[in-house]
Amino acid sequence: STMVTQAAASLSEFWNMWMRSMGATDRIFEIMRSHPAAPAARRAAMPSGQFSFDDVVFSYPERPGVRALDRVGFTIAAGEKVALVGASGAGKSTIAALVLGHYQPQGGRLLFDGVAASELELRTLRRGIAVVEQEPSLFAGSIAHNIAYAVPEREVPLAEVMEAARQANAHDFIQAFPQGYDTMVGEHGVQLSGGQKQRIAIARALLRDPRLLILDEATSALDASNELLVQRALDRLMAGRTTIIIAHRFSTIAKADRLLVMDSGRVVQQGSHDELARQPEGLYCKLMKDQLFAPAAPATA
Ligand code: ADP
Ligand code: MG
Repeated sequence: STMVTQAAASLSEFWNMWMRSMGATDRIFEIMRSHPAAPAARRAAMPSGQFSFDDVVFSYPERPGVRALDRVGFTIAAGEKVALVGASGAGKSTIAALVLGHYQPQGGRLLFDGVAASELELRTLRRGIAVVEQEPSLFAGSIAHNIAYAVPEREVPLAEVMEAARQANAHDFIQAFPQGYDTMVGEHGVQLSGGQKQRIAIARALLRDPRLLILDEATSALDASNELLVQRALDRLMAGRTTIIIAHRFSTIAKADRLLVMDSGRVVQQGSHDELARQPEGLYCKLMKDQLFAPAAPATA
């Protein structure tokens, strides 16, 4: 079945495709709801995009002795752009995984608009979140289908798909294919560049119209023309939406309202780039000196 070929997709994407291909979303979420820790009554709330981690402790089931998150606390306001910064293994992706409900913390709570995540319907919560990954995975199918599956609960008219693609700076390259939006991508389809895949992923996210956005930023720079097109599309996507950026690029970090600097599962510094740059003893300045960020940190580093 197609489920097998889709297995390489990320967990969240795989989840959505699975839901869609099964056509049995309610039953699947019924299974999710039967998690033993979950209270019976759940609220079907769409968060504004405000959320917080309240003293969250988390270990992966495979590594029960190691705290991937160790008493993490922070609040992100509706519409705020927050960059997660830290060395590899610091816990940035784990934060995203918990926000998406892929795992439950062993200690503390996640709150969306002040309501504990355990009180919320996972389906509604996830419907309000979009993830744009570093290397977006497209499934075997048409470009139109790849964009439209952001909204699995209804048939999306092509005009809407095209509008999202325009906003994502993807429309022109899609139209340039002889088959246009019917062009097949994925394993046996046309080869797309990294920047083109990212713009399709951005179109997908725009169509979803989430309250909360998670961006896993690319580590390597795209070529200059792709970079500009992707950046402008991302700016449109981020406008007015709470955004968590797993940040690798100095240009993004400098633009974020606030940075959370992570080390070994803890948030060790918080503030704007300017504030943190004035703390020479802090981890942030050390990370800049080590030129963790791409492209290179400022000349003072
Ligand atoms: P970052 O995104 O900042 O590089 P991660 O959140 O991916 O860091 O990882 C935090 C810690 O959790 C690391 O020690 C990492 O090895 C561990 N980890 C990440 N994913 C898993 C997993 N699926 N199973 C077990 N340990 C994991
Ligand atoms: Mg990571």
